[in-house]
Amino acid sequence: MTTNKLTKALPILIMVLFLCAVIIPAAAYSAGNYTWYNKTATIKFESSFPTSYQASFLSAANKWSNAGSNFRFATPANQLNVSVYMTYYGTNNSTLPWLAQAQAMNFERQNNRWYINDSDVRYNTYYANNFTTSHSQSLQNGYFNVERLALHELGHALGLEHSNVLNAIMKTPYKYLSFLSQDDINGVKNLYGTKSKSMTSGITPIPEEEKQINEPIFKVHQCYAEVSDQELAQKADLVIRGTVKGELPAHWVSFDKAEPVVKKENSISIGNNQIVHDVVISVDDVYKGKLSENEIYIRQIGGTLDGITMVCDDQTEYSEGESVILYLFGSDVDQKTGRTFRYVHPQGELKIVDEKTAVNGFDQEIDTEKMLSIVQESL
Ligand SMILES: [Zn+2]
Repeated sequence: MTTNKLTKALPILIMVLFLCAVIIPAAAYSAGNYTWYNKTATIKFESSFPTSYQASFLSAANKWSNAGSNFRFATPANQLNVSVYMTYYGTNNSTLPWLAQAQAMNFERQNNRWYINDSDVRYNTYYANNFTTSHSQSLQNGYFNVERLALHELGHALGLEHSNVLNAIMKTPYKYLSFLSQDDINGVKNLYGTKSKSMTSGITPIPEEEKQINEPIFKVHQCYAEVSDQELAQKADLVIRGTVKGELPAHWVSFDKAEPVVKKENSISIGNNQIVHDVVISVDDVYKGKLSENEIYIRQIGGTLDGITMVCDDQTEYSEGESVILYLFGSDVDQKTGRTFRYVHPQGELKIVDEKTAVNGFDQEIDTEKMLSIVQESL
């Protein structure tokens, strides 16, 4: 290239680089609060997880193992690291629950730092007939790919949060993609370092001292499918307008085969339990369904109990006094409190902004008049 051409090309090159910097944020992936001490996690399939799904699940694990970082998922062994279940606790009549979950179960302290050493990945049995190992059955036909779900949940298990990059596996809600994006790869390299030192990847691993966590936080990731506005309206048992009154104290709930919560100096295990709390909503109007109570309870994950903090970022944060329109799916009675609580799907959690506008749990702007007319049509 001559000097003249270079002079002409340079401003364009600078502009392209500038645009790239604007369009592709440096760290669109989001690193969580933990890593695995040995940079390895062993996958164990629980008996509830269908044998026919295992190959697809392991294919997803291999994609993370071969992403060029120092992290590896090891193949099945008796060791319990990442336990894979088909499970659903609570109600069976909830019509739009979460698709899959990843939850931190156990932390250990090594060299004065806390690391995760047990994580659960759960597929919801509610969708048992919708899970497929085939790559040709599509989301449009109501199918969710086992490998695709595994890619996403294993990303959480190894320490990643949700990404805001469109084609990232770690972007939510569920969208059919079968490969890790560059953003996902950058994320795992950031957590565990790049495998080959000869390659210049441009990824700077998080320094060890910054990975340190003073007190482990048990993260739960709850992943949902996006549905049409019509399906949302049809499947909801109740659609109400209400005002947020507050939050009830947190308590523990157990999955099958739950073990006690054990907190020791160098290990904390929550033994297949979850911390939940209920949000109290006073009902102002009912658009669909019949309701005799003037107050309802929305079940959410998270809280602090027995010195243990559990957090779920994939749910709507409610503030006292807020006006909301809620699509409710199923109900259940809490074993300890005897209270009836209900489930919501993020798409059906509408925070009212003004007369005509609301924002749902996927951060999408919603035309409330249009949404409520779809509810009317579904009656
Ligand atoms: Zn997720």
